[in-house]
Amino acid sequence: MTAIIIDGKAIAEQVILKVKDRVETLKQSGITPGLTVVLVGDDPASQTYVGSKEKTSKRLGMDSTVLTRPSTVTGQELLELIENLNNDESVHGILIQLPLPGHIDENKVLQAIHPDKDVDGFHPLNVGKLLLNQHGFIPCTPFGVIQLLDYAAIPIEGKHAVIVGRSNIVGKPMGQLLLNRHATVTYTHSRTEDLASYTKQADILIVATGQPLMITAEHVKPGAAVIDVGIHRNSDGRLSGDVDFHSVKSVAGAITPVPGGVGPMTIAMLMENTCLSAERMAQKK
Ligand code: NDP
Repeated sequence: MTAIIIDGKAIAEQVILKVKDRVETLKQSGITPGLTVVLVGDDPASQTYVGSKEKTSKRLGMDSTVLTRPSTVTGQELLELIENLNNDESVHGILIQLPLPGHIDENKVLQAIHPDKDVDGFHPLNVGKLLLNQHGFIPCTPFGVIQLLDYAAIPIEGKHAVIVGRSNIVGKPMGQLLLNRHATVTYTHSRTEDLASYTKQADILIVATGQPLMITAEHVKPGAAVIDVGIHRNSDGRLSGDVDFHSVKSVAGAITPVPGGVGPMTIAMLMENTCLSAERMAQKK
């Protein structure tokens, strides 16, 4: 068997084109969706991610602002900056690019963002809304994975989804979203004993561990859909994921590549969330 390759780049483009139409409708009523990204320090990977976000939001006709601060910025200075953005009506989405330098309390900073502008979906109120299956903001990466599954027509309801990784930004919300869509969900993590005994039961296997190529054909049930969230830059400059694509594609029914799988979807869903925020604010007026 050779798996269907789920083309995240093409699916992200479809999502982006739909958002573009909505941005144009908003602009006709005098509202330009505005995204402000706060970038602290000079981490090259963070700069690349922020650059892609800025490029895509500009392409969609949104107002895109990147505020850079040195790594010596204090937590208090960041809190004041966020307060100003919370009060700025032209800003619909605020994103703090992570990670922040170690001397800053990341939770405190993320919680300072007004939940209505929290387009990353990391504020506890939005996390709680996801748990309750209410409308808040869904974190972009797991939101993107759901879109990939839907566009690839992979059934979720009634299926067994196994998540490898339980981080607050990927694994946990991923499982909750799948549960909300009526999957049966199993979470696994670094302390799970006999990981393969769980992953081999998965109809949908989502891998977000940060461990390069750790999932191999032996972990996968024939015909399963395998979604690889991991991103690693190899010494030769090429990207790979947490899944050993070449061995797994001969067992899986569908698989995402790295690059060109989940990565482009994360940015597309950030655009979706920013547009949604602007639409909600327009409705409130
Ligand atoms: P974290 O480091 O925050 O979490 C990793 C999770 O994987 C933890 O829950 C950890 O378990 C678990 N884990 C680690 N090793 C193993 C193992 N050997 N077996 C089973 N579970 C294990 O990472 P993130 O969730 O933030 O990111 C995961 C990956 O996804 C990274 O490669 C990251 O670069 C990528 N990523 C990609 C994005 C995209 O847009 N494509 C966006 C965000 C992340 P425990 O809790 O026990 O420590």
